[in-house]
This record gives sequence, C-alpha cells and structure tokens, in this order.
Amino acid sequence: MKKLIVANWKMNPTTLTDAKKIVSAYPESTKFADIIVCPPSIFLKSLIDTTTKKVSFGAQDCFLQDHGPFTGQTSPAQIRSVGARYVIIGHSEQREFGGDTNDQIGLKLEASINSGLKPLLCVGGGPEAKSKSTNIKKIVREHLLSAFRKVGQTKIKGSNISIVYEPPWALSTVSGNRSAPMKLIFDVMSYIRSELKSYKLPATSYRLLYGGSVNGNNIKEFADQSYLDGFLVGGSSLKAKEFDKIVQSVNLQATS
Ligand code: PEP
Repeated sequence: MKKLIVANWKMNPTTLTDAKKIVSAYPESTKFADIIVCPPSIFLKSLIDTTTKKVSFGAQDCFLQDHGPFTGQTSPAQIRSVGARYVIIGHSEQREFGGDTNDQIGLKLEASINSGLKPLLCVGGGPEAKSKSTNIKKIVREHLLSAFRKVGQTKIKGSNISIVYEPPWALSTVSGNRSAPMKLIFDVMSYIRSELKSYKLPATSYRLLYGGSVNGNNIKEFADQSYLDGFLVGGSSLKAKEFDKIVQSVNLQATS
C-alpha cells in the first residue's frame, strides 16, 4: 500500500504568496508515497489552480452539512468543488479550540464521505487526552465508536479512510519536537487495528497514520515501521527542505 504523507500547515503561513512559495519548493508524490497538502482553506483554490506539482490537496476541517445558514463554516461539497480530495477531521486542535464533540465529528465524517472526500480521521487527541497518563485505549475506542456510529460499515469500507493517531502531548508545538515513544505508537496502532476488525473492516480498506513531531531527524526510524501507512506532519511540513527529507526517507525505505 502506498504511504500517505500529509502536510498539515495549520494556520500558516500568513500570506498566499508565501503559501505558493512553499508548494513550489515541495517534493512530488511518487509511486511509493502520496503527498497531501492541507493548507488553510482560504488558500486551497489558488494553490490547486496554480501548482504544477504532482501533489493532492485537502482541507483541515469541514462543516457537517453541505450548505445553509452556518456563518463562518466551509462545507465538504465546497471543499470538493475547488478540487481538494481529502479532509482532516477531529484534529486534536480542532477538538480543543474548535470545540468539536465526538458526535459532531461523527457527523463531519458522514458528510465528508457523502461528498466524496477522503477523510483523515484523527483519534486519541483533544483535551481529554492531554495528559500522558490517560487511558488512551479507552479514548481511542470512544473516538472510533462515536465517529463510526453515524456512518454505516459499507460506507466506511468504500471511503478510503485514514485513521491518524496523534497524541496532543507529542505535537511539536507542545513537546518541543519529542515524538511519542515507538512502543506506545505500536500498541495504539495494534489496538486500532483490532477495533477496526470488529467493524469487519479488512486491513486493506484503511490506512493507519501517526502524527506528532515527525521531522527530518527522526523520520528514518518512523519510516522503518512497516505497520505505519503514513504520517501527519505539522511544523516540519512548512519547511520545504525538511519535508523533502521526510518524503525521501519514506521513498528510500520502500526501495530498500
Ligand atoms: C499536527 O498538528 O498535525 C502535527 C502533526 O504537528 P507536528 O508535526 O508539528 O507535531
């Protein structure tokens, strides 16, 4: 299965000019790895229309309906209509600062699948997971259950979904670039796989991604973990050279 390397720019950079500069210095997707660029929504259309790079685009969030009296929101249909193909749902920062509840995330997941977007569903984040000593399996289970409750098994299977485990305390802005321990990531990923089995989802119908302080220095160790199908990269995705290092490392691992 091809790896997914998702660049989450968060609310950066400040100008469209700078956003274009970053993409123009980016690496391209290869036969081993697909690159998904998730800039702020306001930049999506312009970047999609002007880039000559072989990369895909996604939004960092969406609303749970396609149109209507919802001031300030962006719908899955609108994201799709400008040419983006992916959407991040339930990011830890969106759970915390956007106030997304588990139920809303379920509805966003359903709406994004109905619009034909490929969801990148983040689990294991948000205010309830901020401490390292939380019962992470319990939280992950609740996040999966509540997200999938709204969407039937058949729809999930055909949705090209990725599940991202992203502990909030391992985000580079919080941890000072210290990623989660590999043993924990392995345990949580194995747990997610076992949970997804109970939804009768074959392992080939979804990807498992890790996010949290992935960077040019630690990517080799991450790329060596065959159970990881990709990465969500925040801070390091704003530096084209460092992001390139990440992508090259994943390519190299696939050919070795
Ligand atoms: C993110 O917030 O999606 C993320 C992965 O951040 P960072 O890589 O900066 O830890």
